[in-house]
Amino acid sequence: MKKIKENGIRNIVHTNICIIIMILVVLILTILYKYITYKNEIQAPLETSVNVEELYNTTKTEEEDINEEENKKDVNSNISDWELLLVNKNHKIPDDYIIELEEIETTHKVDKRIASSLEAMLNEARKQGLSPIICSSYRTNTKQKQLYNDKIKEYRKLGYNRAKAEELASYWVAIPGTGEHETGLAVDIVSKNYQILDEKQEETDVQKWLMENSYKYGFALRYPTDKKEITMINYEPWHYRYVGIENATYMKEHGMCLEEYIDYLKQFDEEKYKELV
Ligand SMILES: [Zn+2]
Repeated sequence: MKKIKENGIRNIVHTNICIIIMILVVLILTILYKYITYKNEIQAPLETSVNVEELYNTTKTEEEDINEEENKKDVNSNISDWELLLVNKNHKIPDDYIIELEEIETTHKVDKRIASSLEAMLNEARKQGLSPIICSSYRTNTKQKQLYNDKIKEYRKLGYNRAKAEELASYWVAIPGTGEHETGLAVDIVSKNYQILDEKQEETDVQKWLMENSYKYGFALRYPTDKKEITMINYEPWHYRYVGIENATYMKEHGMCLEEYIDYLKQFDEEKYKELV
């Protein structure tokens, strides 16, 4: 009887121990589950914020790339290059400007740095069966004054007062000191078959060829008719200015006159440009 009682007690104790162990296991599993869920909840937002940052960084880098691309100069020129000397109503030829002249086509003189390019261009035109001739090249300041005064006289004869006559003349003949012919970097070229400086010049084969091909030799049509608001020169489709092949090509491709091209280059100061290349 005592033995049966002892067995009963032992069974009860054993069962209780089993229940306690099971409760403990359930408790441990619950805590573990809670812990893992909690950990995941904390990590999720962290991972999201990392992703946003990565996304931000990527976008920023792309934006910077685009900006660098936009700010990058497409040419290797600087506005201080001799080929890009800007001479117009607002920009006089510097007082200390020195020109070394070279004779070309027997009766003309140009800056010696442009002579071979000019000859090459004229030779190629002639090979194409055309007859270009230079009708004006380097002019001394005295010659420019004479031409300018002659033009003023023409307007005076038409009844304009002195100031108005000077203003009107300046649209056709550059004011002395502001004309490109005084730099030796410009020439007027016409067809031997049509030498009158009027609006029909643009229709000659020589002008058509020059407008299409002069950039290959570094020359730019200096006063395109549709740019007269900027150049302040009315009409001179025979006037070609040496600017160098790279510059002339860019100007032609982008439909820019020299003033516009120089404005384009101005946006790249030396330091900024060095950083980007
Ligand atoms: Zn000219």
